[in-house]
Amino acid sequence: MAWTCSGRTNAELVENLFRKGLIRSEIVKGAMEKVDRAHYTPSPSRAYEDSPQSIGHAATISAPHMHASAAESLLPFLHSNARVLDIGSGSGYLTAVLAEIVQRDEGRGGGRVVGLEHIPALRDLGERNTARGERGRDMLGRGRVKFVVGDGRKGWRRDGGEEGWDAIHVGAAAAVMHEELIEQLRSPGRMFIPVEDSRGQQWIWLVDKDGDGKVKKEKTMGVRYVSLTDAPK
Ligand code: SAH
Repeated sequence: MAWTCSGRTNAELVENLFRKGLIRSEIVKGAMEKVDRAHYTPSPSRAYEDSPQSIGHAATISAPHMHASAAESLLPFLHSNARVLDIGSGSGYLTAVLAEIVQRDEGRGGGRVVGLEHIPALRDLGERNTARGERGRDMLGRGRVKFVVGDGRKGWRRDGGEEGWDAIHVGAAAAVMHEELIEQLRSPGRMFIPVEDSRGQQWIWLVDKDGDGKVKKEKTMGVRYVSLTDAPK
């Protein structure tokens, strides 16, 4: 799947992902068009390749088709008032795309996205990359997107998440399904999380909490992510 959607420009990359059915909705397409991937990749010449890239600190910016898949999966919960947590925000790219999605009516709803990193330099990188675009600077200035430092396995209860999160995206593979993160989901709410099985294979799980607080977990595709770990000393 990777590489086949690459483009020469951001618009072309997004169009190719759309044509191949990896982006399905106009909302995700519009948001990905507004976030220039070149602001988030270390190599400008490879910015519009549909492949992951190293961003230092043993982290990678995921391939655009994976970001598209995550955004599409969470979309029903990314309404204009949504509180969204992006764990392992890394480059900040998906954090910004999620923020564009909840801001799609130009922010009238008050939705917010928080990017959470355990490496301070990567928290800073996500914020710096987002500030490279005018829309990103504006969203940062209005507190609609924010980058914080903490252990993602424990979630985050501040910056709009006091009552829980409408959507949680986890961008690194968890060793176990963290109950604390499920607790921090709102009713209703959805989490997209890669979890490693006993054979070391990773799978995306979609965890849904319905309006009555009932939790349903669905194992979907096999993936390859950086691990959700202790912060380096
Ligand atoms: N969505 C990001 C993915 C970055 S790679 C992007 O596409 O740019 C995974 C990230 O998870 C790394 O930045 C890593 O530092 C972070 N991470 C790993 N364990 C973590 C933890 N316990 N808490 C918070 N972040 C963590």
